[in-house]
Amino acid sequence: MNPSPQSNAPLLQMSGVSAGYGEMLALENANLEIRESEIVALVGSNGAGKTTLLRVLSRLLPCSGEIRYQGRPINGSTPDQVFEQGMVQVPEGRQLFDRMSVQDNLLMGAYHRKNRSEVAQDLERIYGLFPRMAERRKQLAGSMSGGEQQMCAMARAMMAQPRLLMVDEMSLGLAPIIVDQLMEVLLSIRSQGVTVLLVEQDIHLALATADRGYVLETGHIVRSGPAKELIDDPELQKAYLGL
Ligand code: ATP
Repeated sequence: MNPSPQSNAPLLQMSGVSAGYGEMLALENANLEIRESEIVALVGSNGAGKTTLLRVLSRLLPCSGEIRYQGRPINGSTPDQVFEQGMVQVPEGRQLFDRMSVQDNLLMGAYHRKNRSEVAQDLERIYGLFPRMAERRKQLAGSMSGGEQQMCAMARAMMAQPRLLMVDEMSLGLAPIIVDQLMEVLLSIRSQGVTVLLVEQDIHLALATADRGYVLETGHIVRSGPAKELIDDPELQKAYLGL
């Protein structure tokens, strides 16, 4: 029997992490753990500090406290180094190269990889995960719908061989039916052994798919636990779900 993701080894650990902008702390004393093959949701309202936490993980923002990835501290690592070790972001707003084809966008995700025949094989594997992108491989990325652009951004990130895929506000501005399709893709990505950190304002959506969740409020992690328990938590239902 496969172990549940919760019983796997920790892939990422944040202990007592604080960060901010000038005098202002946007993240305070955050403790968070992501285990191999989990889907972990990081949820919270606008301005709660979610993107700040992602910037800290990607080493774009300095922090105090400790971050360990694959058991080793990465506080001293650069953004390039953590990227090459498999910490890959799908950024909010997708940030595609609009005037380049879908395929060229996907290849940009693999720009640092030396073995081009492996990259070519991976391209076909990723098209298998995203059949719509295979159909549109020659289309300019900027001419596609929002949902297709989000798929393209996720496919590009997959071309970087992520071990931890960090997806920022995947659902923003997309129709529910498209979001459902993207969630299915995330589950397939996880089944390929990739661990996922899903950062969302839509708390219900994220917790409905995740194994565990963390709730951020004004820079503080105020709740964490199995996603199902968080969904059923009466205080969170009142605060976030309008129930
Ligand atoms: P959103 O969903 O709107 O992206 P968020 O949860 O990701 O929100 P952050 O973007 O991390 O929140 O912002 C946390 C706090 O830090 C907010 O008060 C925000 O105004 C502030 N902040 C974010 N980026 C900067 C910056 N570059 N300079 C100054 N303050 C910033």
